[in-house]
Amino acid sequence: MNAEIIAVGTELLMGQIANTNAQYLTSRLADLGINVYFHIVVGDNPGRLKSCLDQALERSDIVITTGGLGPTKDDLTKETIAEALGLPLVLHQESLDYIRDFFEKLNRPMCENNVKQAYLPAGCEIIPNRNGTAPGCIVRKGEKTVVMLPGPPKEMIPMFEETVFPYFEGKTHQVIGSRMLKIFGIGESEMETRIMDLVEQQSNPTIAPYANDGEISLRVTARGHDRDEVEALIAPMVQEIRKRLYPHVYSDAGETLWEVVIKLLLERGWTLSTAESCTGGMLASSLISIPGASRVFDRGFVTYSNEAKIQELGVSRETLDTLGAVSRETAEEMVKGLAERTGTTAGLAISGIAGPDGGTPEKPVGLVYVAAFLNGRIESLKLNLRGDRQRIRTVSCLNALDLLRKMLLGIV
Ligand code: ATP
Repeated sequence: MNAEIIAVGTELLMGQIANTNAQYLTSRLADLGINVYFHIVVGDNPGRLKSCLDQALERSDIVITTGGLGPTKDDLTKETIAEALGLPLVLHQESLDYIRDFFEKLNRPMCENNVKQAYLPAGCEIIPNRNGTAPGCIVRKGEKTVVMLPGPPKEMIPMFEETVFPYFEGKTHQVIGSRMLKIFGIGESEMETRIMDLVEQQSNPTIAPYANDGEISLRVTARGHDRDEVEALIAPMVQEIRKRLYPHVYSDAGETLWEVVIKLLLERGWTLSTAESCTGGMLASSLISIPGASRVFDRGFVTYSNEAKIQELGVSRETLDTLGAVSRETAEEMVKGLAERTGTTAGLAISGIAGPDGGTPEKPVGLVYVAAFLNGRIESLKLNLRGDRQRIRTVSCLNALDLLRKMLLGIV
């Protein structure tokens, strides 16, 4: 089977957003053994979309569109495709009820425009959307299949994973399994170098990388006759990648670094507190968003000013005056004070310059110190991070968590 992806959206043509949907879908279709021969990008124009669709249906078994399922007048993907396939749009009551409920939960009135989203091509299979209002659909026309998905990746990806992937998996008469390796503390290019030969030889299992804000994920996917065969193909590959990338693979089950650290502490019955300057509570907030955090997380201090660092954590004025708030010594004193004041088993502290202002030649934007405390031991790291304020803050949190992870596992 081969497939073609049509990304609909004038924003894409104008270079305002990158077509990450096509990239994602291609790698997941490869996992299903479906080859993608064409990526098409077309604006919100029914005539041009129709001509792309006609061409795609001539040469591809499966056509997947993303975008243009919204409530506004220029969202015309579904209308155009239904017309081209000669299918009327019919009201799908369950989808309409879901959309109404979606707005009720948000406490916002539903616009009449949204009703249009519940009209779907007659006889289609519905793809429910848990994260938005636009349902997607799968339409069969003779030997051809057309799949329509919304544009926002946070809606499109779960819909693909939950409905479209299993739909095609059922058609391939194979069992497909995958494991998501999560990697931190190594650049994408270095990672590639270390596993280059594995990637080059890949066929079954396949290895697909995804990078995102300082973290990298690698999905290892295999196809086989049954679960045991699939697992037998995946396990040695995962083990080999773990060995090559040691100690940077922190999960082979798709967990976040926050989840992994909470889990390691939970297993030991240990507790954690945080003291943050430039991250302003981001670390604490992300930890608290993980289920089970209440049994681990004790408290978090946001000590942004020097006075707060002195009063709340007992950092010495002399350290702050002579070495500055952004220094290894301050971060270590922050975490030491934290441990003394809270009595938790583990502690994390972050102090840095997130920018865009506040940098100097000696202490540029992106200079961040993180310190970790565990059972009386303190370790710290100096980081020189790139990117905007948000990225620097996010990556600082990840580094702090990774330092604690390594201490918990005896890696440092
Ligand atoms: P909505 O219901 O939100 O209106 P939609 O299906 O109409 O969804 P679009 O309006 O086409 O989707 O796109 C909404 C947003 O989704 C875009 O602003 C963009 O951020 C993201 N998006 C759309 N297409 C892509 C794509 N191909 N790759 C990555 N992101 C995309």
